[in-house]
Amino acid sequence: ISRTKIVDLLKRDDFGAKVNVKGWVRTRRGSKQVNFIALNDGSTINNVQLVVDLANFDEEMLKLITTGACLSVNGLMVESVGSGQNVEIQATEIEVLGTCDNTYPLQKKGHSMEFLREIAHLRPRTNTFGAVFRIRHHMAIAIHKFFHEKGFVYFHTPIITASDCEGAGQMFQVTTKNLYDLKKDENGAITYDDDFFGKQASLTVSGQLEGELAATALGAIYTFGPTFRAENSNTPRHLAEFWMIEPEVAFNDIIDNMDLAEEFIKYCVQWALDNCGEDLKFLNDMVDKGLIERLQGVMQSEFVRLPYTEGVQILEDAVAKGHKFEFPVYWGVDLASEHERYLVEVHFKRPVILTDYPKEIKAFYMKQNEDGKTVRAMDVLFPKIGEIIGGSERESDYNKLMTRIQEMHVPMKDMWWYLDTRKYGTCPHAGFGLGFERLLLFVTGMANIRDVIPFPRTPHNAEF
Ligand code: ATP
Ligand code: MG
Ligand code: MG
Ligand code: MG
Repeated sequence: ISRTKIVDLLKRDDFGAKVNVKGWVRTRRGSKQVNFIALNDGSTINNVQLVVDLANFDEEMLKLITTGACLSVNGLMVESVGSGQNVEIQATEIEVLGTCDNTYPLQKKGHSMEFLREIAHLRPRTNTFGAVFRIRHHMAIAIHKFFHEKGFVYFHTPIITASDCEGAGQMFQVTTKNLYDLKKDENGAITYDDDFFGKQASLTVSGQLEGELAATALGAIYTFGPTFRAENSNTPRHLAEFWMIEPEVAFNDIIDNMDLAEEFIKYCVQWALDNCGEDLKFLNDMVDKGLIERLQGVMQSEFVRLPYTEGVQILEDAVAKGHKFEFPVYWGVDLASEHERYLVEVHFKRPVILTDYPKEIKAFYMKQNEDGKTVRAMDVLFPKIGEIIGGSERESDYNKLMTRIQEMHVPMKDMWWYLDTRKYGTCPHAGFGLGFERLLLFVTGMANIRDVIPFPRTPHNAEF
């Protein structure tokens, strides 16, 4: 008999049929006569219950069925009364494909998130992380579907690059250690070759600059790939390696950009509600009681659109009325997550798109406003997280862009190719970057960004 995935099996009602399931033992309980084994194969949050009449099986084999062991089970589909599912399996043959050592750390339930991070290589086997990583998959599919349906081209930008797009000095440098051509210093120690590319190369912090090249050729593009930032701070919202989605669209202005961002996030959230129901329900019950209500709330609310200046005014008023923030707030400051969350969670009670930030706190490529002080930036702010998207209309005027590059001391020699977009048929365009893991924080209700990516990279953590 060929294997049936548990997700499919639990939907069937052809009781009496012979089936085969394979999976890992989650729990085993019962009496001296009958045991009940919960088996999970990762295809769903739900386990299938195996009913095992001990008298029918070899005693030595039965001893190997411990939590974490891998089984292949033949049996009959029977209607279930007590397992929480419609179906259970009356086992007729059991093969232990893999025994599980008694050092297996997931034998007991209820481990802390901190502990599970220390065993990140095993945590996908828990209910919580199984749910999170299935949702992560669904969100990736939703993102591609959204842009594909809108006619955007999925464009691959390089991971190794020479330009610091954000100018924030958070780049990881790339060096080589070529084992076939070892370089040694005078003491015989192996040295690293910094000159492989003939210039200082780094891991990309954003695909935007290359994305702009693509948009000014193909019209509408998006990138979706890994991004690297040497974040010094240890926050629940920053990773050293994260995934970013960056649409860039020729002829769009800041309003189109906001419309696209709002439509895009809502599409993803709706996709989760439509396709991840059981996993969301589990996370809602076990991790974050307000999760599903919050997701539905976003679908029903129109995002607030507000200039930075007015946002700061609201925050200053809050301080005047006695609200305490950890960090000071005044016009010109880059808002902290607590400020962003105050606007969203306390003041407006819905997502906020803040626009027209002071130019000093934003990157060189943003379109300058007439006031000489602000740029056409937009940050999308979400409950529980703060900034989830950063974007802008781009400065399309060659001379204005050059002035900004000089004022901000952006290294010119690495920028020549980018400037060609403004020299050869420049056009208005706009785009944004959505942090994939920030979206996942919102959609899963998880509290720490380390818990929505399989292998989190943070300071002092590249173990797995
Ligand atoms: P923050 O203010 O939170 O540090 P940022 O303004 O530096 O973010 P941008 O350069 O605007 O980030 O990048 C676009 C998006 O990428 C952000 O809105 C956020 O969703 C995501 N992002 C940025 N840095 C990180 C990080 N270190 N880990 C995970 N996601 C990130
Ligand atoms: Mg940052
Ligand atoms: Mg920011
Ligand atoms: Mg930003």
